[in-house]
Amino acid sequence: MSLVKLSLKELQDQFTRGDVSAAEIVRAYCLRMTQVEGKIKAYITRNTKETMLADAHTMDQNLKGWRKTSPLMAMPLAVKDNICTDGMLTTCGSRMLGQFVPPYDASTVTRIRSQQCFVLGKTNLDEFAMGSSTEHSAFGPSRNPWNVAHIPGGSSGGSAAAVAADECVAALGSDTGGSIRQPAACCGVVGLKPTYGRVSRYGLVAFASSLDQIGPITKTVMDAAILLNVIAGHDPLDSTSVDLPVPDYTKALKKKHAKRLTIGVPTEYFTEGLDPEVDMAVREAIQELHVLGGDIIEVSLPRTPVAIATYYVLATAEASSNLARYDGVKFGLRSKHTKDLLEMYETSRQEGFGPEVKRRIMLGTYALSSGYYDAYYGKAQAVRTLIRQDFVEAFEQVDVLVTPVMPTPAFKLGEKIDDPLQMYLSDMYTTSASLSGNPAISIPCGFSQSGLPIGLQIIGRSFEEETILRVANAYELATTWRNTRPVIR
Ligand code: GLN
Repeated sequence: MSLVKLSLKELQDQFTRGDVSAAEIVRAYCLRMTQVEGKIKAYITRNTKETMLADAHTMDQNLKGWRKTSPLMAMPLAVKDNICTDGMLTTCGSRMLGQFVPPYDASTVTRIRSQQCFVLGKTNLDEFAMGSSTEHSAFGPSRNPWNVAHIPGGSSGGSAAAVAADECVAALGSDTGGSIRQPAACCGVVGLKPTYGRVSRYGLVAFASSLDQIGPITKTVMDAAILLNVIAGHDPLDSTSVDLPVPDYTKALKKKHAKRLTIGVPTEYFTEGLDPEVDMAVREAIQELHVLGGDIIEVSLPRTPVAIATYYVLATAEASSNLARYDGVKFGLRSKHTKDLLEMYETSRQEGFGPEVKRRIMLGTYALSSGYYDAYYGKAQAVRTLIRQDFVEAFEQVDVLVTPVMPTPAFKLGEKIDDPLQMYLSDMYTTSASLSGNPAISIPCGFSQSGLPIGLQIIGRSFEEETILRVANAYELATTWRNTRPVIR
């Protein structure tokens, strides 16, 4: 099998055995990128082949006769372009940060780099991670490898497309309201949003700080466990990262069944707006989980219908505050030829931000303004608590919840770009777990008649990533979805 088709685990095994060298890995992936990147446009910035080959040669020399490797050694990874990389452009898909080269690595990047992986490049995203399609990127959209006329999902669309198109073996994404899970579903790959606090946010450019999490986008559930092992854990540089021991997540995959697990199906996730093909694929997946030994019960998460409204008040409020720092003074774009300071602020922001980011800043500023604060922000905070309560109650009865990820398969480029509300509704099944902080994974569970992937979401108790990984892995091994790969045309 071609090198680029292998999963992270398979590639790692070959590398550890000495069947493949670091230089061969770099060459194979660089070749793959020259073949398909023109059609997929997954990357904003790519590392140069020469730099990576030089590193690869040194690595191969040093490894001669001593093949003790770390799980990510020589693994070709991609990083979403809102995660800071020392010395490498980090644009956030925005003109505002079009020239921004961070002087430090995000903690997740420090962790993967310390295992001597290759960072192949920085992947495309909706500007400041605000969007569900990558169409809000200032650098143009990425394409869905299954059908390049369709969106790859968003905002981590570049990362998901790169994994699906074999342009990297695995990637880091970020998820605020669904941005890891939804593109993973659109592109037929695995995406895991860890529990809020499980992974350090240090060096992740803030969108909505109480919701943002970094997580893996991979070809298999095992690969997600391997990557999570590396990035999870307390970080003194992020006060919201939690100081709990990190288990070996790959161990959770030993049980290849769902016996003695209660699996909840929330009624509110199967209502109007759910595409019949997605509905059917998800219901068949639930049936398969039953075959695998799971006890299936129906549950209710009554506040589900208000999750989107709650999310879009809180996320925009936090964004309006976080994005206040881009004023042309310290870093980021500064407009030239302005006559005074105020005009410099205004014109820099006018020129630097795209329309969706401006819309969110205005919405958020409004929700926080005096006179409206209690009615919007205060109310949304109260509802967030109730949404969290829904999950606490459901998890008294069940071990995991299973739902669709996105109401439809990936839509066409341009289809929703002029209708923000329709775009926001793509997140109707993912924002709840973001608001509650619970971990959730998206795995492939079928295809639409037109050949586009469909995703299954498995949500777990806080800090019980092991359980969702176990269920996801059992399902993945019992089905053959992964054997169908996209043909890029
Ligand atoms: N699509 C959602 C939004 O636009 C979620 C984005 C995200 O998770 N970063 O806010």
